[in-house]
Amino acid sequence: MILQRTLKSEVSLEGVGIHSGRLTHLKLKPALPNRGIVFVRTDLDRSPEIPAHYANVVSTQLATTLGRGNVKIGTVEHVLAALQCAGVDNAIIEVNGPEVPVMDGSSAPFFNAILSVGLASQLQVRPYLALRKKVELKLAEKWAVAEPASRLEIRGSIEWDHPSIGYQEYHYREGSSICEDLMQARTFGFVWEVEHLKKMGLARGASLENAVALDHALVLNPEGLRCPDEFVKHKVLDALGDLKLAGISIQAYIRLHRAGHDLHNQLLKEIFKDPDNYEIINNVEESESIPSRVHAVLASEYAVG
Ligand SMILES: [Zn+2]
Repeated sequence: MILQRTLKSEVSLEGVGIHSGRLTHLKLKPALPNRGIVFVRTDLDRSPEIPAHYANVVSTQLATTLGRGNVKIGTVEHVLAALQCAGVDNAIIEVNGPEVPVMDGSSAPFFNAILSVGLASQLQVRPYLALRKKVELKLAEKWAVAEPASRLEIRGSIEWDHPSIGYQEYHYREGSSICEDLMQARTFGFVWEVEHLKKMGLARGASLENAVALDHALVLNPEGLRCPDEFVKHKVLDALGDLKLAGISIQAYIRLHRAGHDLHNQLLKEIFKDPDNYEIINNVEESESIPSRVHAVLASEYAVG
């Protein structure tokens, strides 16, 4: 039995959006049990909310964008990966613009901010989705396979005909310390793509400060890579963030090859499409049997602001 978690107090970050180039303020705040992760656009009238849920994904081009009506929030995956890695179930993410700031292109700034304020256990048991059947998807050269397992595992592989990338694979297992290492992996792009995107009015905030840039042969960042397999690690980080959009902890072994935001979203849709694919485990009775003294200690640990 694992209790739900939120942040102990709020914490703020500021940075540019990788596509908008706009300076944006982001605030992570505690939330009540069973609230899930909710984005709030504080720059808009009446501060509309967008729950972090796969059904609210409106675009998977270059990044994952959530939307509700005509309200959107872009590049949500890196902050979601940090919340997943830290084991946060409930949080409010206030953003005063259309895009989550890219920070250094990794999840580390979000993860470190969460750990700086600490986590609080809540009074509800964390429900989870146990996959019961194998679910497979193939989109041209990309594929995803999810199989039943006792915890979340993601094995990502990539294959790029580029001397600095080639074939790389990485295996993430929930609950292991490698998660922190994964948070450091930065997003990456090829210079010709970035030039093309800038002409289209995208990638306005992209720089060597927030992405690994490659030309036809080399990594252009003067500091080089943070680790030789930074590319595949970032892909697994993206998958962690996108899978957080299930809105519930997933127990499954997921293998992803050449995957991206679109495949992650389609995999979630495929899993949820058939109720025979999964079972929702919600040990409410156990949560009610937590001794009242434990309740009191836990309650004093967090305040919802
Ligand atoms: Zn990414």
